[in-house]
Amino acid sequence: MEKRECKCAAIVLAAGAGKRMQSEVKKQFLLIKDKPVVYYSLKAFEESFVDEIVLVTSEDDIELCRQDIVEQYGFTKVKQIVAGGKERYHSVAAGLEQIENADYVFIHDAARPMLTLEILKRAYDCVKETEACVVGMPVKDTIKIANAEGYIAQTPDRNLVWMIQTPQVFKYELIQDAYQKLMVQEKELKNRGINITDDAMVVETLTKHSVKLVEGSYENIKITTPEDLGIAERFLGNI
Ligand code: C5P
Repeated sequence: MEKRECKCAAIVLAAGAGKRMQSEVKKQFLLIKDKPVVYYSLKAFEESFVDEIVLVTSEDDIELCRQDIVEQYGFTKVKQIVAGGKERYHSVAAGLEQIENADYVFIHDAARPMLTLEILKRAYDCVKETEACVVGMPVKDTIKIANAEGYIAQTPDRNLVWMIQTPQVFKYELIQDAYQKLMVQEKELKNRGINITDDAMVVETLTKHSVKLVEGSYENIKITTPEDLGIAERFLGNI
């Protein structure tokens, strides 16, 4: 395993309710090839240059994660398993509270099991240069921005449109600062209709730092609806 000179921490987010999956079992714990979805991203971090992992899950699932996932599969880099919050950004904030003295923080959705070492390396090389980068891919389809009535309001230049994935990777001080500001300004942002859906947005909205896009992969899908499970299973067959 390649050892890096900087300390890298990862936050793996598994505290969502996964309502769009229409399943009793939360999507991060559904099985793909006999392993829970969250297993795959933990394994990718465990086998990478990343030094430590904070796993964020709901209060009720902490014990299950400890026994049936972290101990069961021997994930020695998982240092903390903590409870997340109502919104994704609350869960990220809870994870950040556990991290001390890292150089870079990789924030990753447990619902993306197709994380690879190549993606992690590309993101790491990029964050060392830019201090803030998010993994994504250029869109293949034409994208339209709709108005409130469901008519097309704009057609952005397809060459400039990316779909955003995780990991999203930041210099430690930058992401801590951005999230501290978010916690103070959370209500005000909500009142302004700003709905925070990823970490890049926290940095874009609350700091002056720009965020670089770095290539992930078209296979790095987020398990969201039932058909995604079959797709991920096919992709995982290729790893
Ligand atoms: O809901 P969505 O698919 O956007 O969630 C992305 C990731 O964030 C998932 O891995 C989910 O478990 C996590 N999440 C979380 N805490 C929340 C909401 C989502 O950890 N409150």
